[in-house]
Amino acid sequence: MKKYYIGVDLGGTNVRSSVVTEDGKILGGGKVPSKAMEGLDATVEQLLLSVKLALESAGKDISEVAGVGMSVPGTHKSKEGIVVWSPNFKDWNGVNLAGPIREALGVPVCMGNDANVAAFGEYAYGAGKGTNIMVMLTLGTGVGSGVIIDGKIFTGVNEVGPELGHTIIQTDGPRCSCGRYGCVEALARRDAIIDRAARKAHRGRDTVLVDMCNNDLRDLTPAMISEAASKGDEIAVETVKETGYYVGMAVSNAINIFNPDKVVIGGGIAAAGDLLFDSIKTTARVNALYAAYSVCEIVPAELGDDAGTLGGAALARAEA
Ligand SMILES: [Zn+2]
Repeated sequence: MKKYYIGVDLGGTNVRSSVVTEDGKILGGGKVPSKAMEGLDATVEQLLLSVKLALESAGKDISEVAGVGMSVPGTHKSKEGIVVWSPNFKDWNGVNLAGPIREALGVPVCMGNDANVAAFGEYAYGAGKGTNIMVMLTLGTGVGSGVIIDGKIFTGVNEVGPELGHTIIQTDGPRCSCGRYGCVEALARRDAIIDRAARKAHRGRDTVLVDMCNNDLRDLTPAMISEAASKGDEIAVETVKETGYYVGMAVSNAINIFNPDKVVIGGGIAAAGDLLFDSIKTTARVNALYAAYSVCEIVPAELGDDAGTLGGAALARAEA
């Protein structure tokens, strides 16, 4: 009987695959470089290799697999298996990705945008289980977002949405990767958080961050800032609180638009725990409509690095 699903998380650096049970248990995985800059054929080959390794490590055969679901950066025509555009891969404009995978594996293949699929993973197997309307924000290199409504990924009319990371919360704010100013992403992405902490440290204030990065503030990471904050370091605490404010503004807007029962926050800085979440919640309580805020839980993501493959598997299960 075909009772397993394979989730594939295709990134600019690596491609990971997991063999997953119906109820979201990972039986085995495979991870190889995605060769993003070597063209479509090389990446498809690597993707298939990661699937093969995952099957081997799980001790399963492709004949036991009901479907494959892929998490892929960029915008898609996901029903047709086409990547319209992806920033991470060389010349991926209007590329048919699902076709060759389907042909090679002989099973149904579906796909979605990486942020949307991660959100679907949290909805199916993580922090968003049992929700009717779930919003997820992932704080990483950028700020990704996904919205699940009544068990379905909300993509917008041509799969550009939802881009909560590019909603503007400070019209005179810093320039964003999208070219506009004051987007959530410009204020809460990894580098923005690090820059803020580094600028405070440059002013000569006492901080453990300088030792943590061996005197080179360019080597700071959100994880270091979270750790320093948990020890009460003043600069780190300020940085986390400010990040919480910006994320909280994004959450406030999401609450007013979607009236969700849960907002899930993922990414490295989410490990900062209560300090970050208290700041997010205070900002949301003040800035969102209270009737909507009062029914919404704001919680950390649970799946970590597995959100992509588990989301892919969940998508394959939903489409089977
Ligand atoms: Zn932007």
